[in-house]
Amino acid sequence: MRKCVSLWVAVCPLILCAGCAVGSPQGEADQFIQAHVAQVEPLARRANLAYWEAATTGQPEKFEEYAQLQLQIRRICSDPNDFARIEVLRESQNVRDPRLVRQVDKLYYSYLQNQIEPGLLSQIVALDTKVQEAYNNYRATIDGRKVTMSDIYTIFTTETDCGKREAAWRASKEVGNVIIEDFLALVRLRNEVARHLGFDNYHTMTVVTGEQSIDDLDAIFEELDRLTEAPFARLKGELDRILAKGYGISPDELMPWHYHDPFFQRTPLVYELDLDRYYKGRDVRELAEKYYASVGLPVDDILARSDLYDREGKYPHAFSHDIDRSGDVRILCNLQDTERWVETILHELGHAIYSKYHDPNEPWLLREPAHSFTTEAVAMLFGRLSRNAYWMREMLGLSDEQTAKIKAVSDRYLRFQQVLFVRWVLVMYHFEKALYADPNRDLNDLWWDLVERYQLLRRPPGPADAGWASKLHFTTAPCYYHNYMLGELLASQLHHYLVTSVLGLESDDGLSYVGDERVGLYLRENVLGPGARYRWDAMIARATGEPLTPRYFVEQFIDVSP
Ligand SMILES: [Zn+2]
Repeated sequence: MRKCVSLWVAVCPLILCAGCAVGSPQGEADQFIQAHVAQVEPLARRANLAYWEAATTGQPEKFEEYAQLQLQIRRICSDPNDFARIEVLRESQNVRDPRLVRQVDKLYYSYLQNQIEPGLLSQIVALDTKVQEAYNNYRATIDGRKVTMSDIYTIFTTETDCGKREAAWRASKEVGNVIIEDFLALVRLRNEVARHLGFDNYHTMTVVTGEQSIDDLDAIFEELDRLTEAPFARLKGELDRILAKGYGISPDELMPWHYHDPFFQRTPLVYELDLDRYYKGRDVRELAEKYYASVGLPVDDILARSDLYDREGKYPHAFSHDIDRSGDVRILCNLQDTERWVETILHELGHAIYSKYHDPNEPWLLREPAHSFTTEAVAMLFGRLSRNAYWMREMLGLSDEQTAKIKAVSDRYLRFQQVLFVRWVLVMYHFEKALYADPNRDLNDLWWDLVERYQLLRRPPGPADAGWASKLHFTTAPCYYHNYMLGELLASQLHHYLVTSVLGLESDDGLSYVGDERVGLYLRENVLGPGARYRWDAMIARATGEPLTPRYFVEQFIDVSP
């Protein structure tokens, strides 16, 4: 599922205030930005289109075109003289216009990441493309029969035969072993770049150039580990008893393939209620379209440009894609009438509206989300609704009795999902940090050490393989996963602010958001519209009256009572 990051393609800007005299630092900044954007904007648009065609068709020549365009953009951002000019502008303190300051900052980080020797840069782009292409085109097999990820998920949610489940689980990991050598070569190249630029490794570099700090992240994850350890053990014990009973085995015989997801990152649908049956036969696209229109954030234009259904050769997951920062936004999905895909389309459309509703008067460079995790937050705020009983009542026309029944169970799902997600992100965060610190260590064993510790799963017998590398994010969104967690924290913070301050309610009991345009209005004015006009921390403080905090996430989802 969550690939979600709209592809970082360019990062370079536009427009300017006519009042800045050329020759002054403001005028110089202004002029530099204009020239830069004039060069980069058309390339970025072409690259985004090429990527879209590559993902929707799987055609190798489109991947190649995308790689070439991306390389051209990176070459622009790798010019050492331009980088030196940006550094001078940034350090001079004489650029005072806040929009210019923000754009210069963004340029600084884009250029910094690209101060790479050209030969090394070409190698990285080529290898990155090769791995992505292999990933995109690989089809796993079960008993010699080719299967899609959708087939595998169907087995995970319906099959009771343990042997068939194990075969599907192993099939889902095959691609990891196919790409592992190229992937590790890519990790080493990424580290080489980071060291040239004065960072310990690529993980540190990514965090710092993303305007975040390792110490802050470590502190947040330590706190989340502490708060979720006992509640997770309790909930998983309960889950294991239910699962084991269903398979006719004892809880201590449960293996990773007995859970309903290749990485145990989603709540198995095992409680008394199966949410899928409420969505069966429903038009998932229509539900999403109707809902977003009802909160004042229409998406019909986005859906009209999107590619929504499963097809041979097509990218098997989902993402949202901003082609031009001027309204051409699209999503890719492989929709089915299940709860999982309702969540996914609501999620991807959350990213898409963030892009669509950027204030068109902001300069091009600032017409993107404040941070990748702030767009995740909006996507998650809406993605969560697929399991919200009141939302389901409004959207599916359910009776009060059905709603009450769903609520009792779906609250458990949501609580379990969130605590499970924290544990899963702890695995990803610590693994990737260790991977870039030392790519030569025994990573396959390390993976299972972390899975055992944080997710309480049992490692399969025999030598560990590189199945972990089948997690797409290691390749396409490196050192990014922590942002999903920060996104959840912010989604809860925005939800709390919407409930108490925008809608003036005591609690969210009975709240579905359906039909309330104040929701869209608040988000457009405070989050979507400003785009990257403010740094993420400033945006959050402006939009919610306080800094980013785990408080509302914990209040909403984690039962910390002993
Ligand atoms: Zn996402």
